[in-house]
Amino acid sequence: MKNQQLFGLTLGELSELCVEYETKSFTSKQIATWMYKSRVFDISQMSNLPKFFRERLKADFPKLIQPYASVSISKDGTKKYLFEYSGNRRVETAVIPGTDRLTVCVSSQAGCRFGCRFCATGMNGFHGQLTAGEILNQIMAIDEHDKITNIVYMGMGEPLDNAEEVIKSIEILTAPWGCEMSASRITVSTIGIEDKLKDLIEKTRVNIAISLHSPFTEERALLMPIEKSRPIAELLKNISSLDLPRHRKFSFEYILFKGLNQSKAHAKKVGELALRYNARVNIIPFNPIPGLDLEAPSEKDVLAFQEDLTQRGVIATIRKSRGRDILAACGLLAGKK
Ligand code: SF4
Repeated sequence: MKNQQLFGLTLGELSELCVEYETKSFTSKQIATWMYKSRVFDISQMSNLPKFFRERLKADFPKLIQPYASVSISKDGTKKYLFEYSGNRRVETAVIPGTDRLTVCVSSQAGCRFGCRFCATGMNGFHGQLTAGEILNQIMAIDEHDKITNIVYMGMGEPLDNAEEVIKSIEILTAPWGCEMSASRITVSTIGIEDKLKDLIEKTRVNIAISLHSPFTEERALLMPIEKSRPIAELLKNISSLDLPRHRKFSFEYILFKGLNQSKAHAKKVGELALRYNARVNIIPFNPIPGLDLEAPSEKDVLAFQEDLTQRGVIATIRKSRGRDILAACGLLAGKK
């Protein structure tokens, strides 16, 4: 257990730690309460733990959470934090205020190995996994940590390429001994890795968003190389028996690019898929990335695409582009550093 971080351990792992330290097992719950509920990160202040135990813990885990390295604030109120973890792993965390909510967008990996054509994170390559503690650190170490209403796993990296740590972080966020957050306020966005997606569905109640971006195989493969080895049509067929929308929101993420995937034929096919799988569609106007030949759609085209889907009976929303002045596309800030 030594060499591990204390912050980010589940109750089960904390119990193992207590056995290792030969201390009473109920102490595990006390540590979890201090870290995840009371948000106390100085072990010497965990006053109901025996003094000798606090001293040993503090010697073995001198630092529980890591402060952010920098923060940028957009004119529209969006904030982007940069964390610099050991091993040259830089990750971004975005805070997006809304009228009645405050959403935090967390990263699950430093970089990404999937190389989607439209993504700044993918362009910069893969630099390492994050532990559950490093994922949660992005939530606890930001200035707004006590005002967060929603969490989305849509930052740097593919969450299901780091499924074990992502699921662990969700367990801590939602457990009665942890942060006690409702799973309905958490969304995991994935390009679709079937076996890991099944794990996520079975072990959590979070909302699921699948990155579609094109309903046509060849075109999706040009945008997202994963389509060649793991076609989305097969994934959807195989997970449909799990009756996804019963306990959670299920949606398709659809980045709209100018002149590429915004035609009537696209809307028709996306609409068919959405109705077949009982999914909503979240339309995301592309945020231009320097050096890429993909362009943002006009506002008129975005509205027309939404209207087309709505006419077909699909719930379609548009995600506003936020924080353009602070390098809004995910991965740009970490890459720039
Ligand atoms: S879109 Fe997601 S999966 Fe694709 S390269 Fe970017 S971070 Fe990776």
